[in-house]
Amino acid sequence: MGAALHLAHVQQAPVKKRRPKRTGGGNGNRFAEIAHRIYQDDRADTRARTLLLASAHAVTMAPLDEETTVWRAICNAIGSSITGWDGLRAEIRHDLPRYMPPGSRWWSDPLDQLCRGPRVRMHPDGPDDFRNKLKICGEKTRDKVVEKDPITGWHTNHFFCTRHRDHLQRVSAQVAEQNAAAPPPVPNSGGLLPSYFDCDWVWMYRWATRNQSWEPPEMYGLRADDWPVPGKDPVPQRARLRLVIGDGGLEDGPHAD
Ligand SMILES: [Zn+2]
Repeated sequence: MGAALHLAHVQQAPVKKRRPKRTGGGNGNRFAEIAHRIYQDDRADTRARTLLLASAHAVTMAPLDEETTVWRAICNAIGSSITGWDGLRAEIRHDLPRYMPPGSRWWSDPLDQLCRGPRVRMHPDGPDDFRNKLKICGEKTRDKVVEKDPITGWHTNHFFCTRHRDHLQRVSAQVAEQNAAAPPPVPNSGGLLPSYFDCDWVWMYRWATRNQSWEPPEMYGLRADDWPVPGKDPVPQRARLRLVIGDGGLEDGPHAD
């Protein structure tokens, strides 16, 4: 069966050869080196890792020609899960450098939208119920006070239900001064593409979000490598590969920077 398939493949009409910018083969050592770094990078989730590896492959290995720009090669490397430029847009948006507050990601805040007011009487659901364990009200609510960390600017949500409105007002007054003095939050999501590849990333993120007024995170910039993480050493600066925005590579008129 395998042989038959092979034969069928050989008997297909030969594809017209175009003059390649780079023929296959590429720089395997360079790819292996970057791939190793990407696999070790615990900031990347599966989706981000796929995009980074595809980009590394496109830059170091993929044969490029007039039709296969580096961006097309990235889509090809990701495979059938990506369809067209909108698919690429979505993958790049996933890497948008930004601060995601607690509750914006699934299960990032176990007490999301639950009242933190004090519990005086036992909840009937038994001693193992989280409301009894934490001695909190636990009522579902959307009313909250955001507390901003004076060093990182990161948010802590304090939710209070209508019965604990006095608590909400008290906490709100307590954190007002601290919040006003807090710095913009250190980004905690995305920014991996610019950590590995040089490109006009502001242009690319604007293209991906279809938002021409998008700006990089205030104070900290685009690169996850440049964002301070409390209790962690800064990421050492390393050489980045140049990812060229090719002429006519993307729809909507991308330009070289
Ligand atoms: Zn409550």
